[in-house]
Amino acid sequence: MREFKIINKDRDVQYKNMMEAIGRNASKPVVENIPLKSTRMRSIINSHRLAGAYKSNSKVAYIGEQFPTEIIFAFDYIAWNIESMGILFSQSGDVNEFFNLTQENSISRDICSFLRGPFGLMLANCYPTPDIIVANDQPCDCLGKLKFMASKFYETPFYKLNTPNNINDDSISYLVNQFKRLLGQIESTSGIDFEEDNFRSVVMYSNKARDYYCKIVQLHRKYNLPGISRELHEIFGMNCFGLKETVQLCKSLYSEALEMSNNPDYSKKEKRVLWVGQIPEDSHELLQLLEKEVEIIYWAPLWEANLMMLDDDEPLKSIARRAILYHWHLERMREDTIDICEKFEIEGIVLANMWGCRNMMGISPMMREMAATKDIKCLTINIDIIDRNNYSFTNVKNRIDAFLEILL
Ligand code: SF4
Repeated sequence: MREFKIINKDRDVQYKNMMEAIGRNASKPVVENIPLKSTRMRSIINSHRLAGAYKSNSKVAYIGEQFPTEIIFAFDYIAWNIESMGILFSQSGDVNEFFNLTQENSISRDICSFLRGPFGLMLANCYPTPDIIVANDQPCDCLGKLKFMASKFYETPFYKLNTPNNINDDSISYLVNQFKRLLGQIESTSGIDFEEDNFRSVVMYSNKARDYYCKIVQLHRKYNLPGISRELHEIFGMNCFGLKETVQLCKSLYSEALEMSNNPDYSKKEKRVLWVGQIPEDSHELLQLLEKEVEIIYWAPLWEANLMMLDDDEPLKSIARRAILYHWHLERMREDTIDICEKFEIEGIVLANMWGCRNMMGISPMMREMAATKDIKCLTINIDIIDRNNYSFTNVKNRIDAFLEILL
């Protein structure tokens, strides 16, 4: 790729670019037929947070989906999850013009669209200029590389964590030491001191929200709660544990889940299918097709790492443990998925193989083997939920119809 630089770093201009792009491409309202109050609440919180990132005096940190954001929030940065931003945008419009931009700049089409989408948005100068860019290697190292390239585009400081694969005392200390070094680097970049008390309140908010989140998961195991699995996924994707607003959001979702669980209409009755892999927007035809017949349970929000509380006394250690748990480690993921399948009484698995996703390619054989061992029906579909050029509904529909016939 030729040397690319963002020339106009004015956030007002970038905001205008983003709004114009959304307006130009919007094919349907972003929010429609919302059954849960919490969904609307999440939408308002997100809009406010994201619009705030374009203000000239905001401090913005580019992060990824599983970055330990508590560290960033301790310095009052707005976390800009670059991958999720691309997804959010794709839900409201046609991203072809941005994919074309990536191709014009020699980005290979074989790279997943979760990376090409944000790449295109940066090339079109729609993202707010970051103050810092931080990366770990999760969910994959490609995201770290994209952030490294972003740091070149914007000429912004870039810090990277290396998360080990195995969990033991040495690997946890190794990561904790990196966190401490990162805190020092952020202090010298931002000119803001790391305040222990500020960090403790971030950890407290993180745990409060997580406590509600875990209670929702527990209820959901027993009851068919429409929309709840999806909301858990969205909250996981926001990666905003540590903010006061996330506590309010999780509290609100818990009270809605509790209310539904007390309603006999929601006692569990439908067959459950676990959706493994990246998830299209709620109104996507594949989800509509499946939801007519089965209850879809989303896999990622139920991972062990997402149900983990932080240790108030040694928060960095427990954040390190959680970070390692997020790795796509085959043996741990196999055990975690078996546990989810048993607790949710899963009868079928849909493996959504995203175009260009190396993680899904790597994990799919293990998932198929595990499903066969546990006598769970398993279907692999090849899709691209952002770039429609890589996906045909008719082909996938035939396979889903056949899968449902076997399952029901
Ligand atoms: S390769 Fe897969 S896990 Fe990595 S950014 Fe792309 S979609 Fe996400």
